[in-house]
Amino acid sequence: MGALKGFMDFTREIPSGRPVEDRLKDQKECYVPLPEENYQEQGARCMDCGVPFCQSDAGCPLGNLIPDWNDMVYRGRYKEAVELLQKTNNFPEFTGRVCPAPCEGACVLGISEPAVTICKIEEMVAEKGFELGFTKPQIPASRTGKKIAIVGSGPAGLACAEQLNSVGHEVTVFEKENRVGGLLMYGIPHFKLDKVVVKRRIKLMTDSGVVFKTGINIGVDKSANELKKEFDAVVLCGGSQKSRDMPVEGRDLEGVHFAMDFLPQQNKRNEGDTIAEDISISAKNKNVLIIGGGDTGSDCLGTSLRQGAKNVYQFELLPEPPSERSDSNPWPQWPKIFRVSSSHEEANVRENKDKITEYCVSTKKFSGQDGKVSKVHGVKIEFGEPDPETGRPQMREVPGSEFELEVELVLLALGFVHPIHEGMLQELDMKLDARGNVACDDKKMTSVEGIFVAGDMTRGQSLVVWAIAEGREAARSVDLHLMGDTQLPHSQFLK
Ligand SMILES: Cc1cc2nc3c(=O)[nH]c(=O)nc-3n(C[C@H](O)[C@H](O)[C@H](O)COP(=O)(O)OP(=O)(O)OC[C@H]3O[C@@H](n4cnc5c(N)ncnc54)[C@H](O)[C@@H]3O)c2cc1C
Ligand code: SF4
Repeated sequence: MGALKGFMDFTREIPSGRPVEDRLKDQKECYVPLPEENYQEQGARCMDCGVPFCQSDAGCPLGNLIPDWNDMVYRGRYKEAVELLQKTNNFPEFTGRVCPAPCEGACVLGISEPAVTICKIEEMVAEKGFELGFTKPQIPASRTGKKIAIVGSGPAGLACAEQLNSVGHEVTVFEKENRVGGLLMYGIPHFKLDKVVVKRRIKLMTDSGVVFKTGINIGVDKSANELKKEFDAVVLCGGSQKSRDMPVEGRDLEGVHFAMDFLPQQNKRNEGDTIAEDISISAKNKNVLIIGGGDTGSDCLGTSLRQGAKNVYQFELLPEPPSERSDSNPWPQWPKIFRVSSSHEEANVRENKDKITEYCVSTKKFSGQDGKVSKVHGVKIEFGEPDPETGRPQMREVPGSEFELEVELVLLALGFVHPIHEGMLQELDMKLDARGNVACDDKKMTSVEGIFVAGDMTRGQSLVVWAIAEGREAARSVDLHLMGDTQLPHSQFLK
């Protein structure tokens, strides 16, 4: 720990956003990095508190060695900071940009003062690694001769591939899309994570020896059983891709779409692809309603604004979160509080509102003309006493609160239910858990010998940081399975 009283001398600082009117004109990342010395001051706020909850199971899922690299940043010793970060996190340049930072929710300083700026220091260290040449291809000294197939190139598949390649296995990643990266490429918008950052990592991995094959849907274009025969082990990292639907009257009207039919199209346009006219979805000059108040809904908001929506609305079924932690949500738990994303900030500015999301709204039906949606019919709801059977608060409609809103585009951002079962999982006759995710044992092995699973495909819809942790743990198990021994580390919270 460098600065004994850093937490008293400096206040929390995070990078500020570019002016809203500027960033709505482009797809570039919203935040402008701080000057280097400001990150050093922020690193100095870390108290080296003895029991760093930020790297406990309530904090960083990767167990990142946060106080150690904060100290190295404070001292300007970036090589050591990068090395410490790389011990636990394959892709700090992704998490430093998009992680919601449970570490900060568990920061000890956060009990009485604003938490240490951990996430953005992580991004800065990751960028220093590239800028100063400390992050470079890792070509293993020798090869084991074992061949491993990874299905899916999201953060779980990439982390698994990097770990397995590092110990000398020959790794091939199969991806059904035309580009690698999973939701990092086709889901998370460019304004949150520039795809240059994703492609830079893929290049590094390719230079390290990982082979990527795109445009191959395993179970459709190539048989999963064939893959099993060709490779010594297979790891399924196909994500949780089945969107949650809203089976109300009018759902089939033209103009009502899943968020994940909309967002990847914009990612593709930004990457130079052309979307065929008959499937193209655009918010331009439309009244756009986003249903769902989570991260995906927020990404739809920012994307709709950039496409030139006439008006944007967002409905959420649940009540508005409190501005501060409730008694039932104490430190070091993840604080379930009201947050303003960069997209919400943009919507508030453009619509001249304090808050864009309307909470406690239930969608009753959609109606339209000539097969196209033109109205949503909703009602306000309130939550009463918990249901004695489920323990969940009982929901009831507020009498007389029914309303209609004119809309031409509705985006359903209601989350994901489970992986796609048709195709690969059906062909393998894969055992599923009660939620429809791929079941596995504590070594990440599925019901099929030699086939492992990692990420959202087994965990259910989650976060990039958990996908990396999952991929690392699966890599360790595969290495152990093939070699009888392994030097690869456990993901400490998945053991
Ligand atoms: C819109 C959106 C925004 C998000 N924003 C954030 C955020 O800001 N921060 C955060 O931490 N998390 C965020 N998440 C969640 C995060 O992206 C996921 O938890 C994470 O990407 C899961 O990683 P994964 O590797 O398990 O799967 P995915 O990233 O979903 O990747 C799975 C890949 O497998 C491929 N695939 C599937 N089946 C096959 C097959 N049969 N053959 C070949 N390829 C196949 C898919 O095409 C896909 O590329 C967001 C999610 C969404 C939808
Ligand atoms: S990966 Fe997420 S939780 Fe871990 S240190 Fe980075 S921001 Fe915090």
